[in-house]
Amino acid sequence: MSDRPLITGGCFCGDVAYEIDGALQSGRACHCSRCRKAFSGASSAYAEIAPGSTFRWTGREPVRFDTGGGWGMGFCGRCGSTLCGLMGEKVHGVTLGCVNGDPGVEIDYHLFVGSRAPWDHIGGSAPQYEAHPPASGSD
Ligand SMILES: [Zn+2]
Ligand SMILES: [Zn+2]
Repeated sequence: MSDRPLITGGCFCGDVAYEIDGALQSGRACHCSRCRKAFSGASSAYAEIAPGSTFRWTGREPVRFDTGGGWGMGFCGRCGSTLCGLMGEKVHGVTLGCVNGDPGVEIDYHLFVGSRAPWDHIGGSAPQYEAHPPASGSD
């Protein structure tokens, strides 16, 4: 797609790995109770694969966990890192924590701040929304 360097990522143990020829977009942190569990943290840190980008697994493929409505999450079957969100069979986006180096995006906004954990102190200057951001259908 471009002459940008490939974006690469992988899990904690290194078994699952990927590369993206293209870009990420719409970085966000969701503080809802589901994302806290799925990402084992204060929030998700997630960005979508930009249209026109090519995603490929370069190591073992992750284990799928269905979250409903055709959506799923991809985890390493050995170390448990959360690597991606799946829509059907397609990789919709990746967890920013598993990207190697600079993913080229930042957290653009925080969502579901209204249900954040009591111990969560959100820093930075990105906008914070009680639930979904305005004019957005889903996270
Ligand atoms: Zn692993
Ligand atoms: Zn969430």
